[in-house]
Parts: sequence; structure tokens; C-alpha cells
Amino acid sequence: MHAAGTFYKASGLIKPKRLFLSLFGGISLSVLIGWLFYFLTNFISFVYLNFILLFGVLCASIVAFTLLRLFSKSRHHVLNVSLAALFCYLAWSAQWTFYNQQWNSGYSFLEGVFNPFATFEIIARRIVQIDTDHFNRAAGRFPFSGGLTGFFYVIEFIAFMLPVKFLLEDKQYYCEGCDRFYDQKDAFVTETGSFFSILGGAGENHVYNFLPEVSYYSKLAPIYARTREIVKVSIHYCPKCLDNNIISVSAFEQQPDSDNQNKAPLTNEIEITRGMYIEKDTAHLLIRKFA
Ligand SMILES: [Zn+2]
Repeated sequence: MHAAGTFYKASGLIKPKRLFLSLFGGISLSVLIGWLFYFLTNFISFVYLNFILLFGVLCASIVAFTLLRLFSKSRHHVLNVSLAALFCYLAWSAQWTFYNQQWNSGYSFLEGVFNPFATFEIIARRIVQIDTDHFNRAAGRFPFSGGLTGFFYVIEFIAFMLPVKFLLEDKQYYCEGCDRFYDQKDAFVTETGSFFSILGGAGENHVYNFLPEVSYYSKLAPIYARTREIVKVSIHYCPKCLDNNIISVSAFEQQPDSDNQNKAPLTNEIEITRGMYIEKDTAHLLIRKFA
């Protein structure tokens, strides 16, 4: 039982079998994402479309590797981030190795994927080749010099690695006793002035016992004029044992719904607390209230 007012800390435990499966699954998915990028960029030679495809890679990687992390049930943060970095890198090196096959650059598929020196060599040869073509004006397909192409390749690498930033933060809480992830319920406070005065009045060492008395909205209505301040309260709980409940509170700016799409976009998050254990009674009242 964790004392109210203390904060969640991931246990660092792993499940070897699931971890092994997710490692295998992650490598396969990386190669698949790399292949899709290769296939589409090869198929559509219009250079600027690559940027849209890179955005697709970013989204696909975030979704795929988040799902894998949930499957692996690993609570080891450093390991999770390392795996995310590995998978993103492999997706990037895989697309190069598919090009390597097409250009007959002389590396085997496995070398191209797993050996960074081989990948580097494939890219270097490509840049030299483009430079030669560009110099001879032989191919209208390469409007850029080798140097500029190299610069694009760097951007491409950054885009492939960017999902790691999104996978860096681990907001998933885990109940060790019941061997499962927590559920989460959110609610919003629009009367932020009175919320902050209650928060201030509660003193420094409070454990958010006042939260059940606040009035909440389960959904935010769109606004159309000025931005407004919003407080979002999230309760994280294990639905099996309902012990060790966790609270997270953040302030946001709600932006006007300028496109009339019935949306309430939230920006500029200011974290007030994250991952704090609260008292059981408070939590149960909140879970009921947020339902
Ligand atoms: Zn539990």
C-alpha cells in the first residue's frame, strides 16, 4: 500500500517472454515500415511527397511501438526507451537496405539492416552517384546536388528517430499486484479561479482530498471567442483491486474552435501534479463522480 502524497515509480520489472516476443515483433514491424517507405518513395518519385510519407512513418512508428510496449508489459523505463530507439533506427536502416538491394550496392539484407557501417556506405555511395549524375546532367530525376541530397537524408533520419521523443514519456501506470495496467478517467474544471484558491488554501502537504467537492465536466464544450483556462484532473486506478489510486492534475489553455468542428483543443499544458497516490476514499468518490 502506497502512502497518499507519494509518487508512482515504475518497478523496473519485465516479463522475459513478452519482452522477447515484442523484440521480435518490433524488428519485424520496423522492417515493414522501412519497406513501406522504400516502396512508396520508389513508386512515387516526386520529391516533396517524401515529407508527407515521413509524417506517415512518424505516426505509424508511434502507434506500432506504443502497442508493442503495452504488450511487453515492461516497467523498465530505460529498456523501453532503448527499444523504441532501436526500432526507429531499424525502420530507417531497413528502407536503405531495400534500396541497396535495388541498386546492387553489394550488401546483404541483414548487413544493411543491422550494420550501421554498411548503411553509411550505402548512403555515401548513393550521394556520390547522385553527384555524378547531377554533374553530367544525365538524369532529370535528380534536381539536387549530392550535398543537398545528403542534407535531405539527415532530415529523413531525424524524422525516423523522432517517435522516440513521443515514446520517452511513460504515462502508463501498472498494478504489480494484479499484473495489469491502470485504467484512466478524466474530467475538466472550468471554474479555475475557485479551483486554484481551494488548492492554495489546502496548503503544501495536502493529498487532494478536496477534489470530490469540485464540480466537473466529463467533456468540454467548444468555445468560439477567446481562449480560456481549463484544469484537467485524471484519476488512474486498477479496476481489479481499486487500491493505490493515482491522480494527475494539469492546467491547459482551451483554444477556440475556429473551424466549427465541435472540438475543444487544449494547448500549453502546465503540470500541477503527476502520478501522486491519493487516499482510497477520495479516489473512490472521484471514480464514481467521473463515471
Ligand atoms: Zn490491482
